[in-house]
This record gives sequence, C-alpha cells and structure tokens, in this order.
Amino acid sequence: MKFLREVTEEELQNWGVRYSSDYKYVAIKIAVANVLVNRSFQSWSFDSLKTAVKLLPGNPFILDHNWNQVKEVVGTIATGQTLKLPINKKDLGISEDEIQRNKLAIDIAGGFYEAQVIAVAPILSDTKNILDKIGSGIIQKVSIGAYSFNHFVCPSCRKKFEDKSCFCLPPKNHKQANSEGFAPFSIREGLRDTFEVSVVVIPRAATAKILPW
Ligand SMILES: [Zn+2]
Repeated sequence: MKFLREVTEEELQNWGVRYSSDYKYVAIKIAVANVLVNRSFQSWSFDSLKTAVKLLPGNPFILDHNWNQVKEVVGTIATGQTLKLPINKKDLGISEDEIQRNKLAIDIAGGFYEAQVIAVAPILSDTKNILDKIGSGIIQKVSIGAYSFNHFVCPSCRKKFEDKSCFCLPPKNHKQANSEGFAPFSIREGLRDTFEVSVVVIPRAATAKILPW
C-alpha cells in the first residue's frame, strides 16, 4: 500500500499552503476522528467533526508527543472533509459492550462519520527519516494532539451532563461505563479549537490512523 504521494505546486496553491519550490512535498491522508467511542469513553458529535475539518487546516502535523522534539514538526494540515462510511466489524470494538456503545454513538450521529484530512510535508534531510517510516506503514497511528470543546452531552438523555434533569454521570473508566448511574459514554460537543495532529504510539481513538492512497 502507498501511504505517501507527491504533490504538485498547483495542489499546494489550491490548498493555500505556504511552500518552497526548492523542495519536493508529499501528501498523507489521515483519519483523525470519528463518532465511535474512544478508550476514554468519549465520542465526538457529528457537528464537532464538521468543525474539526474546518479548524484543522493550517495546524501542524507530525509533532511527536515528546515536546522537546520540536524539529519533528514537519508538516501542515492542508485540507479536510467529513465522510459517511459503511460500518465494518474492524471499526467496532471487540467486546459486546463496545459494540452496543458504538451502535448508540452511530445512531445519535446519524451514521458512521469520519473526519479525514490531508497533510503535506516537505522532504528535507531531517524529515526524510520520519516520512520514510510513514511511507512504509511503520508509523501509522495518529491523534488530534490537543483541542478544546464546550461541553459533554449524555447519550442516554441527549442533554448536557450539567443539566439538572440528567441524572447520569460521565464515565471515566470501563467499570463506570458499565455501572448504574453512569452514562455508557460522553459525547464531546461544541468543538472550539484544534492545535495539532500528532504521530503517536497508541491513539485514544483506536481507528485514528494514516490511510493508504
Ligand atoms: Zn443523562
């Protein structure tokens, strides 16, 4: 599979990306977020995904979570879109609990929606190593490194958790997500800002990853 492709100056111009014609640039397609419930028992609302693909262009890409390694900021998110995709078993978790939770999350969102972005990066002597790893599929996991949003919504009542008519609590772990008194997960709503897309070892959203072209 091919995880990198060369981009033309025309594409870079169309995306409004600042570039230098001294270097070759490659494009990387990334599934950054979707409506499924992640390892922290949180999901994104459909509206938040739509906002994410508007906010992410211009954000840096390939920042490792090692904050001292700023040299690894080599790319920029160029463009993005929200897609409605068919659901396959790989996207849904493994346990029956997770399947039930994800069915509810998909139902609330009105389908299995995913936010996909295209990042571009110049091939430089000090970026070649990480780009080769991405191109060969060795590095594949990513996450939206940081973001802010307005509130959590309860999937059972479809109200904000702070609404007094919701008696559910937002779950923080597997035990709480399966206990009475807790909602099965929390929906992040009202995305306000995104700061970067990072290469990670283990993403919070299991399905966030670099996609083949
Ligand atoms: Zn509730």
